[in-house]
Amino acid sequence: MKNFTYFQPNSVKQAVGLLDAKWGTTELLAGGTDLLDLQKEYVAQPDKVVSLTGIKELATIEAGNTGTKIGAGVKLTAIADHPALKKLYPALTDAAGDVGGPQIQNMGTLGGNLCQRNRCWYFRDEHVNCLLKGGPKCFALDGENQYHAVFTTGHKCVIVHPSTLAPGLIALGATVDIAGPKGNRTVELTKFFQAPTGPTQREHTLAPNEVLVSVSIPAKAVKNASYEVRHKQAYDWPLVQAAVAFNYEGGKVSNARIVLGHVAPTPVLAEAAAKAIEGKAIDEATAAAAGKAAAEGAKPLSQNAYKVKLIEVAVKRALLAAAGGKKYWEM
Ligand SMILES: Cc1cc2nc3c(=O)[nH]c(=O)nc-3n(C[C@H](O)[C@H](O)[C@H](O)COP(=O)(O)OP(=O)(O)OC[C@H]3O[C@@H](n4cnc5c(N)ncnc54)[C@H](O)[C@@H]3O)c2cc1C
Ligand code: SF4
Repeated sequence: MKNFTYFQPNSVKQAVGLLDAKWGTTELLAGGTDLLDLQKEYVAQPDKVVSLTGIKELATIEAGNTGTKIGAGVKLTAIADHPALKKLYPALTDAAGDVGGPQIQNMGTLGGNLCQRNRCWYFRDEHVNCLLKGGPKCFALDGENQYHAVFTTGHKCVIVHPSTLAPGLIALGATVDIAGPKGNRTVELTKFFQAPTGPTQREHTLAPNEVLVSVSIPAKAVKNASYEVRHKQAYDWPLVQAAVAFNYEGGKVSNARIVLGHVAPTPVLAEAAAKAIEGKAIDEATAAAAGKAAAEGAKPLSQNAYKVKLIEVAVKRALLAAAGGKKYWEM
C-alpha cells in the first residue's frame, strides 16, 4: 500500500474542505471494506485519506411518519436489524442483511455501499490497464465476462453496478443528500449512478470533492421486496437481483417500480416490466410475464447469456414475495 496522510474531521464541512477537486489524490474512508482492498491492490493510491468515522451526524436513522432518513455512515447491520425499517422496507433491509457476511455488514456503511467501486477482475488487477483505468480497451468484451453486464448496448465498459442496496432504494423512490464546496443538493437515487467510461469518472455522479450525507425514503406504504440469485449464501455478490415496489389496493397494482441489479453498469429501471403488471393482480402468470418483459433488450456477452433467464426468475419471485405469495422456492 502506498503511504498516505490520514485525516479524521468531525463535520461534513471539514471533510468537504479536505477533498481535492480531481479523482485519485484524496479518498473518503467509511468502513474501509472496499477502499482498503483497493489501496492494497494499488488500484487506489491516494495521498490523503479522509475518514468519515468521526462525524456523528452521518450515523443516525430517523424513521417517522413523514419519511425515513438514513445517514451515509450508518452500518449495514443497523439497517438490516432496524425494526421499523424491516417492517416498512424489506426491499432494503433484506438486501442489507444479505451483503457479504457479518464482518462486512458490521463495518460497511450505507454511503460506502452506494459509492463502492465495481468488482470487474480486470479493474481490480493492478497489472491490467483497461479502459476504465485509462488504458486502450475493455478486456472483458472478449475475455472472461461471465459476471459482467447483459444490458450492454451503448456501453464501452461492461461492469455491473455492485450495490445490492441501490435497486431496493430506487424502487422505493429514494433521494440522496449531497454536500459539496458550493453547499448541499438533493438528487433522485435513480440519477445518482452513471456508467463510467474512463478514470475521470466513477460509478456515481458525485464530484471528487462531494460527500454523500444521507438517503431519504418517502413515507408511502408500498408492497416491496428484493430477490437475489446467488452462487452461494455468503461472501459473494448476486448474479442477478430484482427489487420491486408497488401500491396494491383492491388486489390491483399501481405505481409499480421494478429495478434490476447486477445486469448493467447502473441499476436498471425495468419500465416494460412495470407496465406489464399495472392494474393487474400479482399471480404466477402476471409475475412471469413481468419477468419476461424485464429481460427484453438484453444483449449478453460471450459467457453470460445465463443471466437473461435469471432476470425472469428474480423479477417473478420478487413480485410474488412483495404481494405476500407463498415463497415456494424457500420450502
Ligand atoms: C466478500 C464481500 C462480499 C460483498 N458482498 C456484497 C453484496 O452482496 N452486495 C453489496 O452491495 N456489497 C457487497 N460487498 C461490498 C460491501 O457492501 C462494501 O464493501 C461496503 O458496503 C462498503 O462500505 P464501507 O463503508 O466499508 O466503504 P469504504 O470502503 O470505506 O468506501 C467505499 C467507497 O465509497 C466511498 N465513500 C464511502 N462513504 C462515502 C460517502 N459518505 N460519500 C462519498 N463517498 C463515500 C469511498 O471513498 C470509497 O471509494 C461485499 C464486500 C465483500 C468484501
Ligand atoms: S468492464 Fe470496465 S472495468 Fe472491466 S475491463 Fe472492461 S473497461 Fe475495465
